[in-house]
Amino acid sequence: MRGFVALDLIIAGAGIGGLSLAMAQSRLSAQPIRVLEKTAVLSEVGAGLQLGPNAVRHLIAWGLGPALKQVAFEPRRLQVHSLLSGAVLAELALADQGRAQQIYGAPYWCLRRADLQQALLQAVQASGQIDLQLGQAWQAVPQARPGDQGEAPLLIGADGLWSPVRAWAWPEVAAPRASGHVAWRALLPQMTLPVALRSDCVRVWMGPRCHVVAYPVAAGEQLNFVAISNQTQEPAPIGAEDFWDQSTDLDWVRQSLLPQAPPSLRPLLEAVPAWRQWPLFERPPLGSAAEMARGRVALLGDAAHPMRPYLAQGAAMAIEDAAELAACLSQQSDASALSSYAQRRWQRCAQVQRASLRNGRIFHASGPFGLVQKARDASLRLLGPSLLDPAWLYGGGPVLSA
Ligand SMILES: Cc1cc2nc3c(=O)[nH]c(=O)nc-3n(C[C@H](O)[C@H](O)[C@H](O)COP(=O)(O)OP(=O)(O)OC[C@H]3O[C@@H](n4cnc5c(N)ncnc54)[C@H](O)[C@@H]3O)c2cc1C
Repeated sequence: MRGFVALDLIIAGAGIGGLSLAMAQSRLSAQPIRVLEKTAVLSEVGAGLQLGPNAVRHLIAWGLGPALKQVAFEPRRLQVHSLLSGAVLAELALADQGRAQQIYGAPYWCLRRADLQQALLQAVQASGQIDLQLGQAWQAVPQARPGDQGEAPLLIGADGLWSPVRAWAWPEVAAPRASGHVAWRALLPQMTLPVALRSDCVRVWMGPRCHVVAYPVAAGEQLNFVAISNQTQEPAPIGAEDFWDQSTDLDWVRQSLLPQAPPSLRPLLEAVPAWRQWPLFERPPLGSAAEMARGRVALLGDAAHPMRPYLAQGAAMAIEDAAELAACLSQQSDASALSSYAQRRWQRCAQVQRASLRNGRIFHASGPFGLVQKARDASLRLLGPSLLDPAWLYGGGPVLSA
């Protein structure tokens, strides 16, 4: 049902979170939606994404299923390997026997971030409600304060990790800090690989202080790689946005990762033509709803709760945020919608941030004599699927569709 509440709303940022909010809003309200995006062209930044059923169910509810099925890939299984031996430690069926769909009511998808962003953009533009201003950065009005309850529009900061909206409305909050973890990302056409090396699964190789993930995207035509390490000798990245997404000379991948890679991984890494390097920045998990909404301002996605990528849930949480915020905005016309949204979201987002940190420690387990890795590998062999299947996460919250 479309709401009748008159809203003046500005969304800063047309990433996955900002466009998801515009999409969810267009399903629930007939109001025009203003989106400001600082870049002039929506780009390929970010390579691939895994999306759990908790996020996919919202995309399907918004009517994006047919468009996204053209570009997404539904992996058969999740396979966890030891990086040292290459042995399979544990497996979880995803598309196999329709398991994810059966248990969680939605599939597990892998796709390129740019494909998801384009599908959201096209759907929002087709609604005729979006006023998307590309090349138009949101900027603070110096004399305005976020707590003002006047007639100012509601402002949603969906402007990512370095959020200028957060810096303005929460000046006391520290900037993101370097985590000491560095990611390398790459895309590789499957056609260029020998048949034996092509894959229809999400594969993870866990090693000491590093791990590698590979999964098909672009309807299976490409393999997306992410290698993450906290063992590099890279110079500590300065806490600035410019250090995000750089090309790299591959020193760590060539010198450290390749020599220890098992036969199931090594030829894949050798086939990758180019990597992009992403020093990972973070903020502590949310501690209260007040960190997500203040006065007529709310934060969504990475602006509110950046997380380490060890649970593959950053974009998924931005999508969940968008669904919840649109639902609140359809029920309450003023700033109280923003505080309701923050109340309903902060604990789940904090739980996912904490679980991502914990996963990182498991993925990168290291220590004297390899004892911790051996314990991890033994638990995965023993408990397998029950460790890989976070029902609290994929079960998600209720779907609020139009
Ligand atoms: C290595 C790695 C792997 C990942 N893998 C996964 C995964 O498998 N699954 C998953 O769910 N997540 C994953 N993530 C996380 C995911 O990429 C992010 O959480 C997600 O993209 C955040 O979306 P967002 O819309 O909040 O922010 P962003 O995507 O950063 O979008 C913010 C937008 O705001 C714009 N902006 C910034 N400042 C302004 C301004 N002043 N005015 C207007 N616009 C502005 C930016 O240009 C940008 O377009 C991964 C992250 C990394 C680093």
